[in-house]
Amino acid sequence: MTIAALSDLLTDAREHRYAVGYFEAWDVYSLEAVVAAAEAEQSPVIIGIGGLTANHAWLREQGIAVYGAVAAMLAERAKTPTAVMYNEADSLDEARSALGCGFNTVMMVGQGMTMERLIETTAALVAEAHAARVAVEGEFDELGEMRDGVLHDEEARLTDVDAAVEFVRRTNVDCLAVSVGSVHFVTGGYTPTLHTSRIRELADALTVPLVLHGGSGVPPEQLQAAVQAGISKVNVGTRLKQVFGEGLALGLQRASADPNLTYGSRLPGDAMTAAALALTQEIRRYMQTLGSSGKAANK
Ligand SMILES: [Zn+2]
Repeated sequence: MTIAALSDLLTDAREHRYAVGYFEAWDVYSLEAVVAAAEAEQSPVIIGIGGLTANHAWLREQGIAVYGAVAAMLAERAKTPTAVMYNEADSLDEARSALGCGFNTVMMVGQGMTMERLIETTAALVAEAHAARVAVEGEFDELGEMRDGVLHDEEARLTDVDAAVEFVRRTNVDCLAVSVGSVHFVTGGYTPTLHTSRIRELADALTVPLVLHGGSGVPPEQLQAAVQAGISKVNVGTRLKQVFGEGLALGLQRASADPNLTYGSRLPGDAMTAAALALTQEIRRYMQTLGSSGKAANK
């Protein structure tokens, strides 16, 4: 199957009130696990890697190029509609470097930029990306984040409806990540409260689909309420690494003494394979929650 355009995925999701998941991967195992989940659920999906927690020197030297190529190949081979995203570039230059590397969607975070500078920079990225047939996700509000079990939300504020309309009009982004109460890096012990009424106001006022980051810490019923209110794409990252880590620990306990059967054999009993299977199961649950299961045929 050819790589799916982000707009095709999100337009259908918006129309039929479900959300497409962006499940952030970090290696070949996790990328494959996302595709396996999508095929098992007959779900559209967005695969890819991101820059929020990774080493930017490595990303720029080779990470973006290598994993862009791998992700694009997996998306082409996938039996369900799959888009390929480079998430949360830390600069215009890093987002640019993802163009031509296999990604058909990019996003840049504008930490520390003034609103005016962020609008100019995002508009420049959109012009370049669209010329390369790559979609752009925009964002102008920061989310709160958990660090060592402590919530830091000093910079976080609810996305203002008028500011969102202005941002989209001036940048021409294809979708907008909004700050509506979710938090990055939640691993348990904290439950955010999503502002569904603000989601509804934003969805009514904007012509582009809305994106929710920080999906890891949001309970299923709140995710579903957010989707019903107008969220069309949900990002999940932290929870996936947690599940993979737990699966790997369990797999290592049960592993054979032969390292060839423990790492990379893809045989039953391999610890990496066991972790990837656990990851696939978790992603399938998210797809069911978001309502994207069974929607592959819609494209
Ligand atoms: Zn995020």
